[in-house]
Amino acid sequence: MKLYSTNNHNLSVDFPTAVFNSMPLDKGLYMPVNIPQLDQEFIDNIDKFTLSQIAFKVASVLMKDTIPLEDLQGIIDDAINFEAPVVELDEETYVLELFHGPSLAFKDFGARFMSRIMAYFLKENEKTLDVLVATSGDTGGAVALGFLGVPNTRVTILYPKGKVSEIQELQLCTNGQNIHAIEVDGTFDDCQALVKQAFADEELNAKLRLTSANSINISRLIPQTFYYFNAYAQLKRQGKEALVFSVPSGNFGNIGAGLLAYKMGLPVKQFIAATNVNDTVPRFLNTGVYETRPSVQTYANAMDVGAPSNWVRIMDLFKNDQSALKQVVQSDSYTDEQTLQAIKDIYNTYDYVACPHTAIAWAALKAYQREHPEVTGVFLSTAHACKFPDIFPEEMKAKIEIPEQVKDLAAKPKQATTMDTSFESFKEYLTTSY
Ligand SMILES: *Cc1c(COP(=O)(O)O)cnc(C)c1O
Repeated sequence: MKLYSTNNHNLSVDFPTAVFNSMPLDKGLYMPVNIPQLDQEFIDNIDKFTLSQIAFKVASVLMKDTIPLEDLQGIIDDAINFEAPVVELDEETYVLELFHGPSLAFKDFGARFMSRIMAYFLKENEKTLDVLVATSGDTGGAVALGFLGVPNTRVTILYPKGKVSEIQELQLCTNGQNIHAIEVDGTFDDCQALVKQAFADEELNAKLRLTSANSINISRLIPQTFYYFNAYAQLKRQGKEALVFSVPSGNFGNIGAGLLAYKMGLPVKQFIAATNVNDTVPRFLNTGVYETRPSVQTYANAMDVGAPSNWVRIMDLFKNDQSALKQVVQSDSYTDEQTLQAIKDIYNTYDYVACPHTAIAWAALKAYQREHPEVTGVFLSTAHACKFPDIFPEEMKAKIEIPEQVKDLAAKPKQATTMDTSFESFKEYLTTSY
């Protein structure tokens, strides 16, 4: 597998380089030079395979010649050790539940796969890999739990004090081992600025082997293709086809992976990118003008993104041809009021409690199906409802089953270092306090 930069198609780097750099120096994003096709026989028989088998097939085709197949199978089975079931709500409406991993959000797929890929490529006797992450919620938990106990790695997570939910904070601060949490007396932007400054600091980079774990890393994108194929397989088993996937989108990594799967041969007709009022992409698809804006806070806060970092990947997949893109992707945005209404409608219609991100994807799917009533649709559920308890009315809240992963956390002591927003404090912490 060779990768180029979306800003320079003449560049060609190998897979480990793309993984450890995250981003090319020209600030484009890494994309595979060749998008390989899955063979028709595999697609025709996909309903006979398990998630693990499908993941292995897709990865081995995409990541050809990067990792011996035996090792790749081991990495996949260690990383994707939970299910991604498609649950039927009614005959034309299915929900793909991506929240059965340790952090209860779909980011577990990307974070767990990435951590194991990085550990695999770390050579013996090499410096410990220092992973720095700024988080406003879900990313930090997935990365922390993804790297927990992974040898030769050390993770430092910065989060804004008082601005993450209780469960999210527990997921960041109760790990111990190689995971360190810093509670910054500031905003998410302050956290991100500290991480950026660390990457730019020469002295620090001479001492430590720093890497970021953000959502643009190619090794986070790849495992997210697995569950699209697996969802297709589950529906095929039930004799269903003509699928549309509705994806709650913020940085557009999740739907980007779906579109990569589509380009590899996933026989799906349509994707819907469902957003909250941070509607840069829906505006673009409607007007042809791509204009980023500062992000606005909403109930679906993991999608509060005004400048979606993976969008250039999607444009690259479609060779920057907007009309080709529009034949496969449509996009709609929803207000907080519509999100709450969708949460209530889902509950009243199916007796199902959906998190706000998930509810937006459902609303977008229903709008699509009003125009195309014959189409079976799948909407992606990106997080477990228990991560956002404050949003639900009491009656619904009582219905949310708290998974075991969370029950255990509450009993553990919180370990976090508090810090101001000065870079000196952060630098001193990184160089002295471990
Ligand atoms: C990160 C996240 C999203 C957005 O996913 P992108 O890949 O950034 O588009 C949606 N829902 C939840 C719960 C998330 O954590």
